[in-house]
Amino acid sequence: MNKTDIQTAHNLLAQKQKIVVIPHRNPDGDAMGSTLGLSIFLKALGHEVQVISPNEFPDFLAWMPESQKVVIFEKTTQKAKEILAEASLVFTLDFNALHRTGELMEQTLKELTVPFLMIDHHEKPDDYASYIFSDINYGSTCEMVYHFISELGKEDLINQQIASCLYTGIVTDSGSFKYPNTTSTTHRVVASLLEKGAKNAEIHNLLFDNNSYNRLKLLGRALENMVVLPELQTAYILLSQKDLDEFHFQKGDTEGIVNYPLTIKGIVFSVIFIENYQEKIIKMSFRSQGNFDVNLFARNHFSGGGHKNAAGGKSVLSLTESEKRFLEVLKEDNPTKL
Ligand code: 5GP
Ligand code: MN
Repeated sequence: MNKTDIQTAHNLLAQKQKIVVIPHRNPDGDAMGSTLGLSIFLKALGHEVQVISPNEFPDFLAWMPESQKVVIFEKTTQKAKEILAEASLVFTLDFNALHRTGELMEQTLKELTVPFLMIDHHEKPDDYASYIFSDINYGSTCEMVYHFISELGKEDLINQQIASCLYTGIVTDSGSFKYPNTTSTTHRVVASLLEKGAKNAEIHNLLFDNNSYNRLKLLGRALENMVVLPELQTAYILLSQKDLDEFHFQKGDTEGIVNYPLTIKGIVFSVIFIENYQEKIIKMSFRSQGNFDVNLFARNHFSGGGHKNAAGGKSVLSLTESEKRFLEVLKEDNPTKL
């Protein structure tokens, strides 16, 4: 965010506003952390604020401060539309294109005429926002929200709740500080969040040591299903709806499974295919280590996008057909072709 932008944000926030803060659909720790953290901050500034999530957030984030006040667009659509119609300002966090909120919500957002402010770290932001703080060098949107607050000169308003939210997104999007975009600045921000009261051990425990037995069994099935292609430095996992049903799948249960194949020596590209009968799609997640760009892979072949080392996409073919198509594409586009 350059000086003009921060000045504009400053001016907009100088008057009392009705603000809606929005994460992407299927929000993760960073999306929820940034929207909840920012919304608590904006309330402390004296604004009226509502977080509207396109759809449900996973259970493992339900402990987060103010998460129970979130309005779910796809569940209480009329209520969400009414709040949006009243808004004087909209923040969109952790995504770069309105379609990331899902078709239904995208349509509603497109009809609004109030200023949008985007804070995001994904590649290639769309041009819908009046004010954009977009930078792919940040490991998380939560870290950016911290800098946003700090640029506004309001760091003193960061309380324990805000610190806990922002800490959550930094931890989840950095793979607990292990990904390459974790910088010395990230650690300085984290130090400050701990000083403001974020309880690191407790948050890690809430995020990562809260598995159900079924979730671990599902992980076991996923690892059993894994196909390893050492000659292409690639491994992938298929999870059918039947697998999910067998272990009473709950939202969030598949989070992070895609990272496991990367722990195999020599594997730098990992993909998970998750069948979703209800949405009639195969949700795909892509992860890589090093130079293989999964954002490009997802964009070019599976109507998706994201970051260089972590991206998502989808397929409308059946699970088997999606696998076939993936294997076709992989022949030409894989880490050994770099
Ligand atoms: P995940 O695999 O965890 O769903 O997503 C990995 C990263 O890619 C996240 O930063 C997420 O926001 C982004 N992402 C996931 N799906 C899509 C998609 O369909 N389009 C775009 N542009 N980004 C996505
Ligand atoms: Mn993020």
